[in-house]
Amino acid sequence: MEINLISDTITRPTEGMLQAMMTAEVGDDVYKLDPTVNELEARLAKMFGMEDALFFPSGTMANQAAIKLHTNYGEQLICDKWAHVYNYEGGGVSFNSGVSCKLIDGDRGMFTANQVIEAINPPDFYHSPLTTLVCVENTTNKGGGACWDIEELKKIQQVCIDHGLKYHLDGARLFNAIVAKNHDPKIFGEMFDTISICLSKGLGAPIGSVLIGSKEYIAKALRVRKVLGGGMRQVGYLAAAALYALDNHIERLAIDHDRAKEVERILLHNDKVVSVETVETNIVIFNLKEEVDIDKYVSNLASKNVFISNMGQGKLRMVFHLDISTEMFENLCDILRKQ
Ligand SMILES: *Cc1c(COP(=O)(O)O)cnc(C)c1O
Repeated sequence: MEINLISDTITRPTEGMLQAMMTAEVGDDVYKLDPTVNELEARLAKMFGMEDALFFPSGTMANQAAIKLHTNYGEQLICDKWAHVYNYEGGGVSFNSGVSCKLIDGDRGMFTANQVIEAINPPDFYHSPLTTLVCVENTTNKGGGACWDIEELKKIQQVCIDHGLKYHLDGARLFNAIVAKNHDPKIFGEMFDTISICLSKGLGAPIGSVLIGSKEYIAKALRVRKVLGGGMRQVGYLAAAALYALDNHIERLAIDHDRAKEVERILLHNDKVVSVETVETNIVIFNLKEEVDIDKYVSNLASKNVFISNMGQGKLRMVFHLDISTEMFENLCDILRKQ
């Protein structure tokens, strides 16, 4: 059986999720008349203690809409050099919002409040772009699923308040951080102007992300979503999958985290492996020794039906998710021990 660890986005809906989708009550969501979408949005807004939420077809679109809300043409946002908004959204920051990114050289995709202060352009120095937004990612994708320290996030919030900057959280995998660190979701709701969350990653829904924020921001986001072509009609079928995921797939993220930790231990004992980034959630990033041929290592695993990603610069990645059964996981451990 195929053990696909390329990403936590490869999951397929479970029987229960398909049942929930098939029996969903739907309406035209462009008119805000889909009861299942409305329920999903209300549920997530409440969970994070924020006023309102909006369903999007992708996490990229939710982030791009947030950036559009918080900036004007010619302005600059601050993010880590590894940020998804900078690296993996097709240049949307400049395409959609006419905004540039000031990159921070962080640690595993995370940075400090002092680094933010240093990255802010003085607002009266009109030669530089005006800094108006800080984006953080939790957990960090390229940083190997690392979780932010809440105290540092609060310090950055204070910097944003002091300098009149908006504060957006790319929470594609925020539930992984919430489960790993046992956080109350409301601490994030209190801190950020907007939060995006993917339902199609570890939570296992086929499609969908949500942007959460104040009534005012979400009303504006509705227009931005329309402009980006993200207004969808009877999309309650997908919202039903997302609601099912919220009911059934949050706590089980701990299983993915335990498995990733177990694989970290196995890799640390392997002759071919030189280092493993400390595993905090469901992502394992590791480096092979210089003399080991990376392509061969990856294709050898593939010949045993184990699929992992080569991220370049000697980095390999495995991501755990709900389509890995206990049996598949045991096989994987055996294969990795003999690798
Ligand atoms: C997956 C991901 C997104 C959104 O990606 P989509 O494929 O557009 O849903 C945004 N940010 C991070 C950190 C991600 O990992």
